[in-house]
Amino acid sequence: MAELLYCCPRCHGELDSHSERYECNACSAVYPIISGIPDFRVYPDPYISLEDDRKKGQRLADQAAAHQLDFRGLVAYYYSITPEVPPDLGRYYENHHVAGVTRGVGMLERLAAYGLAGYAAPGCRVLDLGCGTGGFVLSASEAGADMVGVDIAFRWLIAGRHRLREMGHDTAQVVCACADYLPFRDAQFDLIVSENVIEHTAHAAGLLAEANRVRKPGHALMARTVNRFAIGPEPHVGVWGVGFLPRRWMDPYVRRVKGIPYEHIHLQSVFALRHLLADDPDLRVTYPRLMEADYQHHPESRQRLFRSYAQMAQRFPLLRPLLTVFGPYLEIVSPPATSGQKTDSSET
Ligand SMILES: [Zn+2]
Repeated sequence: MAELLYCCPRCHGELDSHSERYECNACSAVYPIISGIPDFRVYPDPYISLEDDRKKGQRLADQAAAHQLDFRGLVAYYYSITPEVPPDLGRYYENHHVAGVTRGVGMLERLAAYGLAGYAAPGCRVLDLGCGTGGFVLSASEAGADMVGVDIAFRWLIAGRHRLREMGHDTAQVVCACADYLPFRDAQFDLIVSENVIEHTAHAAGLLAEANRVRKPGHALMARTVNRFAIGPEPHVGVWGVGFLPRRWMDPYVRRVKGIPYEHIHLQSVFALRHLLADDPDLRVTYPRLMEADYQHHPESRQRLFRSYAQMAQRFPLLRPLLTVFGPYLEIVSPPATSGQKTDSSET
């Protein structure tokens, strides 16, 4: 496997590599390497400053080392020091992180369903854009792919790397960066996946443009985002009906119902996404292929909803346009599935 080549995320200039930093030859920007993770961020995670994020990551690393915490223990510790997340949501998120490897297996199955499994095969370089705590990075590493995980949250990369090491996959690389300012030279990846990230960025067009730039021409992309018009509670806050409100009412409504802010979340509808991708015929928005592994960590009542959705989409192709509008997620796929994948033009 050829070496992964970095460039300056701001100007795409060449970087000089030093033991504790990268420095851009062209614009002189400096990017530190902290705890072995290069930090190429151009702006911080909206939830936390660069400095506090690095401190929190270091605190996680120290705690894991001092108490020999496993991954679940480390995530539980994270929520114990994050009082702004209410306990019920903390448990929900903890479960979500722990289930990440299983969900990663579901993503591999989904890739196969789209006819894209060959892009994550041994010998392929795969970028997980918004890898969080690295569930898919681990699943795809176990399947033999050469994995690179990118996230804007340094603290989550520390937790993700802890998990990768725990499972003996420390050759996978994790890189801290903004999805719309990637620190990679052009055309290096066979596949880009981006799961539940588009709704967390105010720069979805920039993210997709960067994903196109660093992807080898004609190679694959699979992205999933929470659907604004999903029939069900908004998954980040557990409140019904948020997506159906005008955007300026979402925050006051969630504050009133749940007592927490609703900020930095940018849900997309199928209409908004298709508008965004209008000039890019290689990227297609479709209804989500739901695999058991996608939802088996949810309570049984929610699992039933997901299962009925998957069965309806499978059995009634004519309903797919409607199921796309109100489904739990939206999917962006490139290249489009071939005729063998039983898709139809009404999806596009
Ligand atoms: Zn530069």
